Amino acid sequence: MAELIRDPVVMRERVLAARGAGRRVGFVPTMGALHAGHVSLVERAGTDCDDVAVSIFVNPTQFGPHEDFDRYPRPLQADCRLLEPHRVAWVFAPDAAAMYPPGNATQVVVSGPAAPFEGVIRPGHFAGVATVVLTLFQMVPSQAAYFGAKDWQQTRVVMRMVRDLAVPIEIVVCPTVREPDGLAMSSRNAYLSDTERTRAVAVSESLIRAEEGWRSGRSVAEIEAAMRETLERRGIAIDYAAVVDAESLAPPTPDADSIALVAGRLGSTRLIDNRLLPARAAR
Ligand code: AMP
Repeated sequence: MAELIRDPVVMRERVLAARGAGRRVGFVPTMGALHAGHVSLVERAGTDCDDVAVSIFVNPTQFGPHEDFDRYPRPLQADCRLLEPHRVAWVFAPDAAAMYPPGNATQVVVSGPAAPFEGVIRPGHFAGVATVVLTLFQMVPSQAAYFGAKDWQQTRVVMRMVRDLAVPIEIVVCPTVREPDGLAMSSRNAYLSDTERTRAVAVSESLIRAEEGWRSGRSVAEIEAAMRETLERRGIAIDYAAVVDAESLAPPTPDADSIALVAGRLGSTRLIDNRLLPARAAR
């Protein structure tokens, strides 16, 4: 069974001791309310590494003032039970005071891939993410960290930060885990009413339409219009529905992979998803 650790100093000692003994440590940062998507990251880390650390911390600084920080689910015991069958050495669940000591005055601000999309809709979100991720990397100094492709822009932001600040860690991006009808698993799906849950499938449907359009040579404008139509038909309030370069998130080019990105709101629930579109020139 995993050891539950709250103290960052103890956490760091455990990882450094394992590494000192020649072990490879993998790290999966989460906000808890764990589901099969998180478990897939833990499994992948367990395949690649000798020891796995999972952090559970609902990070206040990545939520906007009118977002769902207060109601975000925090089922720590159920999370620990879910992890039990998997090979997790440590669950790191620090409290906010340990993450942000009094007088804390430092932020990591990434530009470039952090600027568009979520960066526009959620100002300050990626500064919160980058700061907490870098702080967690100090407390859990593993050789590799595992992130989900579901939060594609987040993976680009974290990878850019790691490169720019020469953080000695490998970032591994793992595929999105979906419900049988295609809805990407998310801790926020628990907010959906039954009827909203039925309509939520439009998010992944819009991405399938994007891929069909992409493969049949439609223009980016046509693809984005089809995505919007699919979402609007099911009453999803669109934040963005766009096809961009998968790395830079700038306008797409034929020689590089692109990505369809979508975010929208269904009632009070925000849903995001994406689908990789292979380079057209390569086909
Ligand atoms: P969160 O707890 O939502 O902050 O997510 C923690 C990590 O799990 C992030 O790297 C997410 O991208 C990843 N994740 C969340 N949902 C999924 C999913 N459906 N499939 C794969 N990874 C996911």
